[in-house]
Amino acid sequence: MAYSETKVVLGGLAHIPIIIGFFYLIRRQYSFGAMLRTGNNALSEKVSSAPSKPAAPAKPAAPAKPAAPAKPAAPAKPAAPAKPAAPAKPAAPAKPAATAKPAAAKKPHSEVPVNTYKPKAPFTGTVTENYSALKEGAIGKVQHITFDLSGGDPEFKYVEGQSCGILAAGEDAKGKPHRPRLYSIASTRYGDNFAGNTLSLCVRQLQYEKDGETINGVCSTYLCNLSPGDKVKISGPVGKEMLLPEEEDSNIIMLATGTGIAPMRAYLRRMFEPTEIEKHNWKFKGKAWLFMGAPKTANLLYNDDFEHYKSKFPENLRYTKAISREQQNTKGGRMYIQDRVLEHADEIFNMIENPKTHIYLCGLKGMEPGIDEAMTTAAAAKGLDWAELRPKLRKAGRWHAETY
Ligand code: NAP
Repeated sequence: MAYSETKVVLGGLAHIPIIIGFFYLIRRQYSFGAMLRTGNNALSEKVSSAPSKPAAPAKPAAPAKPAAPAKPAAPAKPAAPAKPAAPAKPAAPAKPAATAKPAAAKKPHSEVPVNTYKPKAPFTGTVTENYSALKEGAIGKVQHITFDLSGGDPEFKYVEGQSCGILAAGEDAKGKPHRPRLYSIASTRYGDNFAGNTLSLCVRQLQYEKDGETINGVCSTYLCNLSPGDKVKISGPVGKEMLLPEEEDSNIIMLATGTGIAPMRAYLRRMFEPTEIEKHNWKFKGKAWLFMGAPKTANLLYNDDFEHYKSKFPENLRYTKAISREQQNTKGGRMYIQDRVLEHADEIFNMIENPKTHIYLCGLKGMEPGIDEAMTTAAAAKGLDWAELRPKLRKAGRWHAETY
């Protein structure tokens, strides 16, 4: 009996490995099925949508635990490290941002060249072209004049919004060389030919009557009568007042009368001229709004170019004209740009409230009081005081004025 009991016990014990083996097989089968299922889920999420990717790894991680054997562990590996690795990367740029700080502390436009050539030792440029910027029936004489700047040591370099000095040939009434006259540069740093070695001006011949006699401005007449090949003494570049902001998403409001359009032409070419855009890495993404004052339609300078830019970039460029001798303001007087400013005061003020907006004025000094008056009215409608606001804009480097 004791023998047979031992036999039974031993027999029972002998079945234990079989039972363990049986359970092991069942469990293994189950784990393998689970692995297949999770594997399929991960795949389908990957295909269906990229953003859901990070959700997938969480699932295989759970079944991977019971699966002691090496095989189930394998799918768990790619799931976990692959996705977290991506978010870890964006953390890296934090360092460059920190190291970039000293550069940000640099004064804006500190690398813009100034006075490379002084009036006492000017650069000698060569006229490459000189043509009328006016259309048939326009008043007066306005020329677009281009100079070759190549061969300078140091090179004559400039940026949009700067001016240069011109030393007219000859002597004044006292037998002394003419003093330099400043002109706003009308070309971008790449020049009209995009070669980076020319500079263009937009010059009206100054003429006025004195004692019944027509007096011609010395320097403007000299410039307007130049021919290709002529040598001209040029100083500069000068000025940092009218430079464009570096931010590509800035908004630029431009108020120009007559040849005051010169710097604005450079800005607009920089923003919208296709070859310019190819040349530089500065891609304008903001809103530009040009207000242009001229006596007649035929006097609108570079009008065809601006209309073309407007048609190509309707979302980015607005172009409003004040044609003083063809249009009337609400009081029946000549239409000046300040009348246009008043018409659009609300929109202009909405733009000014955005710290990314800059305002540029160039041309007749006489337009400034008119612009101030229009802005005062517009500001008051919004409960603001323009006399307080304007100096603040100027201090913030957002109000740029160059008027003669
Ligand atoms: P323009 O072709 O005669 O055009 C000037 C326009 O402004 C005309 O429509 C004129 O109207 C109008 N205007 C006259 N008085 C005005 C006033 N108080 N407010 C607003 N608009 C007024 O111009 P321009 O002969 O080329 O003269 C441009 C001026 O800008 C020159 O004095 C030039 O020295 C100066 N400018 C300055 C810079 C600079 O500072 N960087 C650059 C270039 C030019 P009506 O004639 O019909 O009255």
